[in-house]
Amino acid sequence: MAIHIPRGTADVLPGEVELWQYIEQKARQICKRYNYREIRTPIFEHTELFHRGVGETTDIVEKEMYTFTDKGDRSITLRPEGTAAVVRSYVENKMYGDPNQPTKLYYIGQMFRYERPQAGRMRQFTQFGVEAIGAHHPSIDAETIALAMRLYEELGIKGLSLEINSVGCSTCRPVHREHLVAHLEERKEELCGDCQSRLERNPLRILDCKNPTCKEITKEAPNITEHLCEECSPHFEAVKKHLDQLGIAYTVNPRMVRGLDYYTQTAFEIMAEGFGAITTICGGGRYNGLVEQIGGNDMPGIGFAMSIERVLLTLKAQNIELPVHTHLDCFLIAMGEAAEMKSVELLDQLRQHGFAADKDYVGRKMKAQLKAADRYAARYVLILGEDELNKQVVVIKDMQTGDQQEVPFDEMVSFLSAH
Ligand code: ATP
Ligand code: MG
Repeated sequence: MAIHIPRGTADVLPGEVELWQYIEQKARQICKRYNYREIRTPIFEHTELFHRGVGETTDIVEKEMYTFTDKGDRSITLRPEGTAAVVRSYVENKMYGDPNQPTKLYYIGQMFRYERPQAGRMRQFTQFGVEAIGAHHPSIDAETIALAMRLYEELGIKGLSLEINSVGCSTCRPVHREHLVAHLEERKEELCGDCQSRLERNPLRILDCKNPTCKEITKEAPNITEHLCEECSPHFEAVKKHLDQLGIAYTVNPRMVRGLDYYTQTAFEIMAEGFGAITTICGGGRYNGLVEQIGGNDMPGIGFAMSIERVLLTLKAQNIELPVHTHLDCFLIAMGEAAEMKSVELLDQLRQHGFAADKDYVGRKMKAQLKAADRYAARYVLILGEDELNKQVVVIKDMQTGDQQEVPFDEMVSFLSAH
């Protein structure tokens, strides 16, 4: 019996992989412009990192991790997200000691979550994310948001909307929490089972519940933004001002939460018109408590993550074609054994000089080889028969203009380079 791909994963085949490469390259370019540098961390980490760095009460840690015991009896987890590992590496490699601060990093890599698969929700998916660690200044909040927005804009995505919120800090959150719990206690019996237990453990997350009754109950709940402290309130105002300055439109959504102690202040999500029920394509925020949580000093941080899968779905839904090219520069057709031998050498020369070039390997007739050249959308077809070999020339046919001419072997590269 044939073996099938695991549920929630996908092969990225030639034809589609060029779109991935294009998006990844765009992400890298924009990071370079914003002065973020790439970091590559392992695909698996000690499980404890995610318990501490993502949070015990999150869906990710409670339900979605791929955790196993390795042969050395360690609990290992395939990374479900990127931030915890980046912060671990930041602490472990003492990046805070670098005179250039904040430390601005980005990653592109596979993440693993045991989810119920659907379009845009995979068990293995690829995230592009950035982290800026070591600065409180609201301009860095706005900068990370801008980086994500500009990337989408440059890819041609339309109908973007940005929602922002402040989730406060360890000073203002307990005050809000008290008000929130008092409000929710009144209708506790009506909350869903999950939310009833959240009420004690992590009431903020009730604001995030998709259950219609819970949504209804939280509609009137007090907003965190009403209780922001003397530090968080002006910070939030300043982030908004910076976004205004950058001409980036947003709406404040006081329901948006990241219900963990070490997520603080700015939280944001970017939505795009397009595909199905899931419209969120990017999520991010500040995590001023995270570095300490993972064993470092008290260092603020902010970042976001987006999956390439959801970018691609959005592009498809919006009928946006990326300018990717897969054509060959040259296809070399040789007729006869001696010519075939010479063609191998010419092909190698072309490739050494940077041309994407190929030939036939399966003994096709001339006509079928021309067809193959056509399928590869070769810009030039180079023909080498016995006559040409004797004359030490190759016929170069420009497939756009139809022009063809004989070019001496030793001028082949310069001829093609000049065109
Ligand atoms: P959702 O509410 O859709 O489950 P999330 O809150 O779990 O999202 P984050 O952990 O903030 O998402 O991840 C940031 C981004 O990563 C999302 O906005 C989305 O683009 C992408 N993402 C998250 N989970 C998946 C998944 N299972 N498959 C594909 N992309 C994902
Ligand atoms: Mg999720």
